[in-house]
Amino acid sequence: MNQIDVIIIGGGVSGLMCARELSDAGKRVAILERQSLAKESSWAGGGILSPLNPWRAAEPITQLCRWSQAAYPHLAEALKSSTGIDPEWLLSGLLFSDCQELGIAKAWADTHATRYESMNPTDLAGIEPNIRPKAGSPLLLPDIAQVRNPRLLRALRTDLARRGVQLLERHPVDHIEIEKGRAVSVIANHQTFTAQDFVVTAGAWSGLVAFNSGLPELPIMPVKGEMLIFQAPPGLLQHMVLSEGRYLIPRKDGKILAGSTIENAQFNKGTTEVAFEALNAFAISLLPALRHCNIEKHWAGLRPGSSDGIPTIGPHPDVSNLYFNCGHFRNGFVMAPASAKLLANHVLQQSPIVSPEPYLPTAKP
Ligand SMILES: Cc1cc2nc3c(=O)[nH]c(=O)nc-3n(C[C@H](O)[C@H](O)[C@H](O)COP(=O)(O)OP(=O)(O)OC[C@H]3O[C@@H](n4cnc5c(N)ncnc54)[C@H](O)[C@@H]3O)c2cc1C
Repeated sequence: MNQIDVIIIGGGVSGLMCARELSDAGKRVAILERQSLAKESSWAGGGILSPLNPWRAAEPITQLCRWSQAAYPHLAEALKSSTGIDPEWLLSGLLFSDCQELGIAKAWADTHATRYESMNPTDLAGIEPNIRPKAGSPLLLPDIAQVRNPRLLRALRTDLARRGVQLLERHPVDHIEIEKGRAVSVIANHQTFTAQDFVVTAGAWSGLVAFNSGLPELPIMPVKGEMLIFQAPPGLLQHMVLSEGRYLIPRKDGKILAGSTIENAQFNKGTTEVAFEALNAFAISLLPALRHCNIEKHWAGLRPGSSDGIPTIGPHPDVSNLYFNCGHFRNGFVMAPASAKLLANHVLQQSPIVSPEPYLPTAKP
């Protein structure tokens, strides 16, 4: 085992992006992942690079989203050229086919310098002829993009391996050993791993890692989300479309994702017939042609839920070399680059990209 400066616990998008940031700064990094890398929430998500209704997001979420949205095109390009894997960053725009909060949405967009196009039903039919919107006002945010999660994650993994980051899969961390206010090692597979700094990016399981290490449990709870993917012909849908809290996401190859449910199922991520029927009915009512398309897959993931959706990022108040980057709930993909950068700012003692206070573990109830 080579010498390690920073151990990262959990290899989802949060852990992988933190590893990339820290390795960029010359740190020797290892990720300890209890199973295979990036198979939990990060794999399961939709890859929309925005909160679903951005005007409802708390300002600290908006701050991280905006930083990340600006960073994503370059990140996707850099990963593609270093690994040959295209994360499919795609500027498909986010279309609200029947927005019920037009006034609030426009006011938010104006104060946040966000471009929008509010349109009438004829305009809507012009850009998305195949959808059947409900009553409401169509609104397009044309600058919202998506990525294809599994591809971005594969590219990150390949990029990290090339950089010499140690990717230790099937290494479930049992607990962190803490002595006199400092983390000294982690125990995984009955082995001891030491480092100078430790970062917990264990998604919905982050609270358990803290608790098993004798620290107060973090207020992070699993929130199940189920999704379907349809084998649709390319061109059936151009934009990501949101209606009544659910969405369709068209991928580059034509496949269309339908999501998602919000369920409290503890750590059970089994799929249910009820969710399947609800997502299928939603998808067909919005885009009737999907009735004739095969459903390729139905899956569920556990979002790292937190009461306000604001992630926990920063050092533990009582353990100075133990950091957290977790609790991103529904927006972990869009916030990932900024969260990783902010986390790295803490570890590297740099000035932070955004004001760090709202995210500190101490700021959490
Ligand atoms: C259905 C669905 C749709 C979503 N859509 C979007 C979207 O469109 N846009 C968006 O921005 N976000 C979306 N999200 C949310 C987003 O996916 C998550 O917020 C994000 O992936 C969280 O990443 P993470 O790395 O923190 O957690 P995870 O991806 O869950 O990774 C945590 C990792 O830690 C590992 N781990 C846990 N315990 C231990 C341990 N003791 N030792 C070692 N490893 C451990 C796990 O195995 C896992 O690999 C969606 C989520 C779901 C479920």
